[in-house]
Amino acid sequence: MLTRKRLSLNPEDSLFFYPMSQDTFKKITAHAKEYGFIFPSSEIYDGLSAVYDYGPNGTLLKNNIKEYWWKAMVQLHENIVGLDAAILMHPKVWKASGHVDAFHDPLIDNKDSKKRYRADNLIEDYMAKIQTKIDKEVKKARKRFGDSFDEEKFLSESPRVLKYKKQIEQIGDRLNKALSNNDLEELKQIIIDLEIADPVSGSRNWTDVKQFNLMFDTHIGAVSGSSSKIYLRPETAQGIFVNFSNVLKTSRMKIPFGIAQIGKAFRNEIIARQFIFRMREFEQMEMQFFIRPGTEKKWFSYWKETRLKWHLSLGFDKNLYRFHDHEQLAHYADAATDIEFKFPFGFKELEGIHSRTDFDLKSHETHSGKKLRYFDPETKETYVPYVIETSIGLDRMFLAVLSASFTEEKLDDGSTRTVLKIPAILAPVKVAVLPLVKKDGLPEIAREIFNELKWDYMINYDEKDAIGRRYRRQDAIGTPYAITVDHQTKEDGTVTLRYRDSMKQERIRITDLKKELNRKLHLRTWLG
Ligand code: ATP
Repeated sequence: MLTRKRLSLNPEDSLFFYPMSQDTFKKITAHAKEYGFIFPSSEIYDGLSAVYDYGPNGTLLKNNIKEYWWKAMVQLHENIVGLDAAILMHPKVWKASGHVDAFHDPLIDNKDSKKRYRADNLIEDYMAKIQTKIDKEVKKARKRFGDSFDEEKFLSESPRVLKYKKQIEQIGDRLNKALSNNDLEELKQIIIDLEIADPVSGSRNWTDVKQFNLMFDTHIGAVSGSSSKIYLRPETAQGIFVNFSNVLKTSRMKIPFGIAQIGKAFRNEIIARQFIFRMREFEQMEMQFFIRPGTEKKWFSYWKETRLKWHLSLGFDKNLYRFHDHEQLAHYADAATDIEFKFPFGFKELEGIHSRTDFDLKSHETHSGKKLRYFDPETKETYVPYVIETSIGLDRMFLAVLSASFTEEKLDDGSTRTVLKIPAILAPVKVAVLPLVKKDGLPEIAREIFNELKWDYMINYDEKDAIGRRYRRQDAIGTPYAITVDHQTKEDGTVTLRYRDSMKQERIRITDLKKELNRKLHLRTWLG
């Protein structure tokens, strides 16, 4: 979507309020690297800011997330078809979509530190600091009053808290007004009035605020010049809109129907932080659902509910998700909500659901001169369809899965185990096959099991080190099941099946393994 989101001042939105989680977040990023999930891009050249590569386990997890989304959207919906549009598109696409003129952030430089910031972020951070003061007041009061402390009453009556709240409100109003009016001078004035200093150098020597377009541009063909300038797509959605007629003609779809696409998008984010949460090259999983005008409210609710259900099907705590309805809507949207996820740094947007009206198709009609309409056989009318969009960042989903899965557990023997409790359907490796010892014919049996199961699932075979260490290695990459071949296997044809999360083991016949795994890992078990 085109508009950039502004801060909703919820205390949980700031890193400030999560000193412990920040620590956890560091552990998660280190773990992701150590176990081959995510590497900084071009690391041997010191990396490229906000660009990341997915390692062997990361690739598997990412592909599984894609597949889970794709099957839920395309395979399980008779009226949704897929598309894979090119990253490079005709430059007029981005004029029509509004990205050339409006896809920008307000940028400000500090003349002394030479650091670059988003002006709105500097102001938002200032507001977040005031919020921290409120939090400190609450903490102090709680300590003072003990069990009898009534937080709600305190928040609505304490003169100091009320003063801080008023400050936040006033700054927020000023900021929103400046942003809506595109008033760059006012943005700078707010920074000056609040005496906001560069967080790195403490300097208040700021340049003027200017707009910075987030699209990457490049040139097509051998000649460079303004006529050959094209963009790397900043969203996948437009590839769907410009193919509306092609898909309609070739797929025999009738409204309501959707087009789904997974693909790379590029945004030259001014500040890219929080690991893979905000990247310059990322992947989106988007679906545009074309509907009859007047039915948008119904379909917007349908997709809100359906998408939340998809998230909840993974089995993480439901309190990790919440809706955040947009109060300020883009000029073309008539409803928008985010599914926010509680990342270690607070609740943040994971997925957007937008009711986009007929803005995009109409705009492409105007700019291309081609009709993008639908003849409705039921009403005998021809119209430009309305659109409900669901748009989720694949990398953000990856981070959500990683952070909700990362667990450190104290065991009875005093040791700690680090385990990724990744939902089995998404786990990079589904099963580890482990011979208890490297002799007595056990590896041969284990190999046989491995060779049988590998046709259906990603399996690891591991015979190196003591069994306990092998279990830990699998826990660390999130393998939900481990099959251990021991001496009893030779006697009765059974193996142990170990569960990652409970560490419980049960004996199971080798001949029953396939059936059992199929039951546990079947799409219907998760989405049915
Ligand atoms: P934000 O407000 O966080 O910048 P947005 O509202 O601009 O996001 P959309 O344009 O609605 O995001 O994009 C849809 C989805 O794409 C987002 O919900 C998010 O999951 C993902 N996304 C957007 N920008 C990035 C990015 N820079 N890095 C990773 N994922 C992103």
